[in-house]
Amino acid sequence: MAFETKVPSGPLTDKWGKHKFDMKLVSPGNKRNFTILVVGTGLAGASAAASLSELGYHVKSFCIQDSPRRAHSIAAQGGINAAKNYHNDGDSVWRLFYDTLKGGDYRSREANVYRLAQVSANIIDQCAAQGVPFSREYGGHLANRSFGGAQVSRTFYCRGQTGQQLLLGAYGSLMRQVNAGGISIFPRREMLDLVTVDDKARGIVVRNLITGQIESYAGDAVLLATGGYGNAYYLSTNAMNSNATAIWRCYKRGALFANPCFAQIHPTCIPISGNHQSKLTLMSEGLRNDGRIWVPENKDDKRLPNDIPEEERDYYLEKKYPSFGNL
Ligand SMILES: Cc1cc2nc3c(=O)[nH]c(=O)nc-3n(C[C@H](O)[C@H](O)[C@H](O)COP(=O)(O)OP(=O)(O)OC[C@H]3O[C@@H](n4cnc5c(N)ncnc54)[C@H](O)[C@@H]3O)c2cc1C
Repeated sequence: MAFETKVPSGPLTDKWGKHKFDMKLVSPGNKRNFTILVVGTGLAGASAAASLSELGYHVKSFCIQDSPRRAHSIAAQGGINAAKNYHNDGDSVWRLFYDTLKGGDYRSREANVYRLAQVSANIIDQCAAQGVPFSREYGGHLANRSFGGAQVSRTFYCRGQTGQQLLLGAYGSLMRQVNAGGISIFPRREMLDLVTVDDKARGIVVRNLITGQIESYAGDAVLLATGGYGNAYYLSTNAMNSNATAIWRCYKRGALFANPCFAQIHPTCIPISGNHQSKLTLMSEGLRNDGRIWVPENKDDKRLPNDIPEEERDYYLEKKYPSFGNL
């Protein structure tokens, strides 16, 4: 099998813009002739389903949970980055691109990361338009904090419940389209298999988790938005029903699985308390970038942290990376 990244040609900053322009358009009158199956109703699936329906396509939306708004996106806490430069602290699309590449240890695909940085500002606008109650400064502007090792403040957040609020916004848009007749929703369905016709994804097989019946659905395209595969690890911050079945089935049908090295392990989880635990629980991402990290200067020091005086603490990160301090 040939490995084809499908990164568009041209200069880095124009690649995806040019690709969008080069793609064939579907005229408004023709969109209603197509049905798209969207599997998953998290931030990715709910937003895609709502947007596709707004464009005029027929959408069928599937999820495991009893309500689309119970997707695991609800667990996200810390925030979402966008290069809006509200703080005028030197941020730009290029800096977000650079920080993201660096944060991914230079293993990310540059063109795609640039695209992410480019559209980051639009995503905040879209969420705000969907009614997401982002935290605000007292003057009314959307608030930003520095997050995830960045030297600029570009993280938009809703206190410690960003994912929940974003998901409620996406869910609102989804349900608006359900009400308008563009989307049919199928909750409590677990995708078990993908149907391909001439190597194109044209349908899915699901189990109805209420009746146990196996059902199949046909469409012109299948969009998988079934979340991450964190549960491939022993314990993760994903719930157990984030089980990676759907992507596994597509892999068995010939889809490629790329970049398994991109897994984030949350550093601030409540310590494991026993083998009864099925998942890790995050303490608070709101605490990141606060406090200071140190070790005892004397590596054999057996005293409790509180008993070690300030002058005997080694703030090694701040020494090693002075311009980042404790980020
Ligand atoms: C504790 C925690 C904190 C986080 N904090 C942040 C943060 O601060 N900032 C940030 O940017 N990101 C954060 N993330 C990551 C971010 O939340 C996720 O990457 C993102 O929400 C995933 O969205 P999604 O739509 O792809 O998947 P999900 O929200 O997981 O949705 C998957 C959907 O697919 C459905 N599904 C799955 N398998 C099947 C199947 N076989 N059949 C039918 N339906 C299926 C599920 O029912 C669900 O509706 C955090 C994640 C966690 C767990």
